[in-house]
Amino acid sequence: MPELPEVETVRRSLAPKLAGDVIASVEVFFAGCVEGSTPEELAWRLEGRRILELVRRGKYLVFQLDDGASLVIHLRMTGRLILIPADPVELHPHTRVLFRFRSGKALRFDDQRKFGRVMWFRNSTSLKRRLALGVEPLDPAFTAARLGALVKGRKRPIKSLLLDQKLIAGLGNIYADEALFRARLLPWRPAGELSWQEVEALCAAIRDVLAEGLKYKGTTLRDYVDGDGRTGMFQERLQVYGREGEPCPRCGGAVARVVLGGRSSFHCPRCQV
Ligand SMILES: [Zn+2]
Repeated sequence: MPELPEVETVRRSLAPKLAGDVIASVEVFFAGCVEGSTPEELAWRLEGRRILELVRRGKYLVFQLDDGASLVIHLRMTGRLILIPADPVELHPHTRVLFRFRSGKALRFDDQRKFGRVMWFRNSTSLKRRLALGVEPLDPAFTAARLGALVKGRKRPIKSLLLDQKLIAGLGNIYADEALFRARLLPWRPAGELSWQEVEALCAAIRDVLAEGLKYKGTTLRDYVDGDGRTGMFQERLQVYGREGEPCPRCGGAVARVVLGGRSSFHCPRCQV
C-alpha cells in the first residue's frame, strides 16, 4: 500500500508535467471511487479548471485548482496514477477515472481493489476538516519534542500510534515496522512508557527511513508504480518488513511476525526491546 515515500514519488513524477495544465474532461468508470459528490458533479466541477500545483498531505495527493478548490486522490491499496497520451487513449481493465488535459495528456486512475478515492473540496478549510491529518514527519515541525507530546500518557502500542494518521500523517505498515526496528523498539510497547532517549531515537528513525524510502523512489511489493509506470527500489533495502524467519541484519537472530491490531508486525525479538 502506498505510504508517504510512494505518494511523494508519484507527486514528483506528475507535478512538473501537470502543473499549469487545464482539465478538459473527466470520465468516471466506477462511481464508487468518487466520494462526497456524484461523478457528474465531479466532472462539472473539474472541467475547465487549471492545476496550479500538485502537493501531498500524508498519503493524499492534492491537485490545487485555480478556483481555490482542490481535487484529492487517495490511492489506498492498489491505486495507480499513470500519465498517458490522450489521443488515442489506452484504458486499462482497472481504469476507474480518466482525466484528459488540454495539452493532449491524460491521467488514468487505475485501481484493482477499488479502495482508492477521488474527492473534490471547495476550499482548503473543507479539505483540512475532512482529512484531519496530523504532523508531516518530514517537516521540520516533526521533532522529538513533538513526538514526545504525542506519546505522552498513551497506553496504546507505539506501532498503532505511528499508524494513526490524525497524529502523524503518511506512515503505514512498512515504514512503521522499519522505523521501530531502527529505533530498537518492539511494536507493542505502550507508547507512554518510552524513555526520552527512545523518543529521540524513534523520531530520527522515522525521518531517516522515510527519507531513504524517498531516495529509492518507494517500495514496490506488488502494485506500486509512479506516474511514469516505474517501480520503486526500496523493497531491496527493507530490513524486517516481509522477512519473517530471515536473519536480522543487525544481530543475526530470526525476524519474527506478530499480528497487532489486525496488521502484521515484523520485528527482531532479540535486538528490539
Ligand atoms: Zn536483531
